[in-house]
Amino acid sequence: MSLKSEEINRAMAVERTLGIIKPDAVEGQRIGAVVSAIEGSGLRIAALKMVQLTRAQSEGFYYVHRDRPFFGSLVAFMSRGPIVVMVIEGDDAIARYRTLMGATDPAKASEGTLRKRFAKNIEENAVHGSDGPDTARFEIGYFFAGSELPQD
Ligand code: ATP
Ligand code: MG
Repeated sequence: MSLKSEEINRAMAVERTLGIIKPDAVEGQRIGAVVSAIEGSGLRIAALKMVQLTRAQSEGFYYVHRDRPFFGSLVAFMSRGPIVVMVIEGDDAIARYRTLMGATDPAKASEGTLRKRFAKNIEENAVHGSDGPDTARFEIGYFFAGSELPQD
């Protein structure tokens, strides 16, 4: 293999990212549409379950945002009803899934993205996705035991 294609392979490594279908989208019966869009984009669902966060678990998950003015409201929103947590896998999965989600604020999200299609506003924005490899590792471990994940 030439050096160049090795570099390309490294840049396009198979990754795992954590996706969440948030309470607003579960309430709106969008689970199937979100899963279908993920699979339709060529990414794979490696693990999936429905859970409801306690307030403390919601605070723990969004700890990095603890000093933001919307933290209390975000924590309450994310624990108000069931969510679907998923491990999403594929080449470059972290960036590809964030592209599929669209901008945090649905008013700024591109046409056809999950947030453009399903989000109500900047807080109740339908879906979550990890923002980098370290975050993905932390977030997958927050919800899934090693025994729940396919071996890599
Ligand atoms: P996520 O982490 O959920 O994938 P994101 O990375 O696009 O979304 P972050 O900046 O990490 O956006 O914000 C985390 C979440 O906090 C957002 O998805 C949204 O639910 C909420 N949020 C972000 N900004 C605001 C805001 N200005 N007002 C209210 N809620 C907000
Ligand atoms: Mg984020």
